[in-house]
Amino acid sequence: MNKADSERLGSALDQMGLVPSLSKDDADIIVLNTCVVRQNAEDKAVGTLTSLKPSKELNPDKVIALMGCMVGPNTSALEKRFPYVDVFMAPQQYDPLIDYLGEKLQIDTAGCVGPLTAAPAISTYIPIIHGCDKFCSFCIIPYRRGRETSRNVEEIVHETEMLVKRGVKEITLLGQNVDSYGHDLAGNVNLSNLLFAVNEVAGLERIRFLTSHPNDMEDSIIEAVNGLDKVCENINLPFQAGDNEILRTMRRGYTNEEYRRLIDKIRQKVANVSISTDLIVGFCGETDQQFSNTLEMVKDVKFDKVHSAAYSTREGTIASRKMVDDVDETVKKERLQIINDEQEKIVAGINAELKGEIQEILVEGRKKGKWFGRNRNDKLVFFDSENIKSGQMIDVKINETSPWYLEGSIHSEPEK
Ligand code: SF4
Repeated sequence: MNKADSERLGSALDQMGLVPSLSKDDADIIVLNTCVVRQNAEDKAVGTLTSLKPSKELNPDKVIALMGCMVGPNTSALEKRFPYVDVFMAPQQYDPLIDYLGEKLQIDTAGCVGPLTAAPAISTYIPIIHGCDKFCSFCIIPYRRGRETSRNVEEIVHETEMLVKRGVKEITLLGQNVDSYGHDLAGNVNLSNLLFAVNEVAGLERIRFLTSHPNDMEDSIIEAVNGLDKVCENINLPFQAGDNEILRTMRRGYTNEEYRRLIDKIRQKVANVSISTDLIVGFCGETDQQFSNTLEMVKDVKFDKVHSAAYSTREGTIASRKMVDDVDETVKKERLQIINDEQEKIVAGINAELKGEIQEILVEGRKKGKWFGRNRNDKLVFFDSENIKSGQMIDVKINETSPWYLEGSIHSEPEK
């Protein structure tokens, strides 16, 4: 989400005639886009912001802007703490900087924040719903990004069309809870309606969406993933904990059994679907047995990717007010390691089955002297070729696999 916000603001600055600086020392404008989902992310943002103070003192004309989740609805405390910051912007609110620069640089800024205009990547993000209404007990997002607000279908389709004209081939529709898209819009709109609409955009090759919540993944969404040719068979469905009591205290709203049933349903309806997940170990009061329920879920479901994190208290959340972060840090680290080791084995096995297979890859660019792209299941694939360019769809034969990426060779001539 932050990456998408940065791209959109970057695009607006580009429209104003500004160009990126290679170093923050040379920059006339510095925008710090902050993530505060974890306390150490906020500490890092504060450290970076503090380090900018001397250069602002040296050059008072330098503009420093702070954006993202660190800027909540009320900025007065931040203004006192960081008086050298010129502009504070809550998530998705770019206008304060655009207006400030418009006044300072005397540029006509009308219409500067809209769809991306700077050359976007082959694969890019489109935020479709902002905020979250769920209030999981460990999470700060609803307090910082506010309640759910969906963008309308026409606006998103138009943005997609504009992006495709600029060379984009793949979009990822973004939301903190993307499956609840549309519930606040008139006319019974949901994510599957949007997927149908975006699937019609000519020239677009692939569609993905992030992040799903098990309680909002309606059958119509699963059917859209199965039925629409551009929607990739790839779902990120966080389960967070495998133990029902921990799920209850996390306020996730589903049980271990319900989650497993949903996974079974998705796998029955969508052939070759890849499923990734997010989980937390060491949440308040988590016992060895409760942790082993999480480990069991990882072993049983066999996810394609697991984003795991050790719990840390986030001030302002329900858990910080009502629960005790009582699992020893060493134990948390051990549990994390156990999950990561297990997952590495699982994904090594899943990926090994792809050896010798032909995979359709969207070429994204070059890295470490090789071309790279992803298959429909979001697996990273490296390969060599002299005759291709970014944005092409090619067939690659997988020759080598590892838990982290695949390597292959061109199987078919690229499309002209
Ligand atoms: S659904 Fe996700 S973003 Fe919303 S409160 Fe829960 S963890 Fe946070």
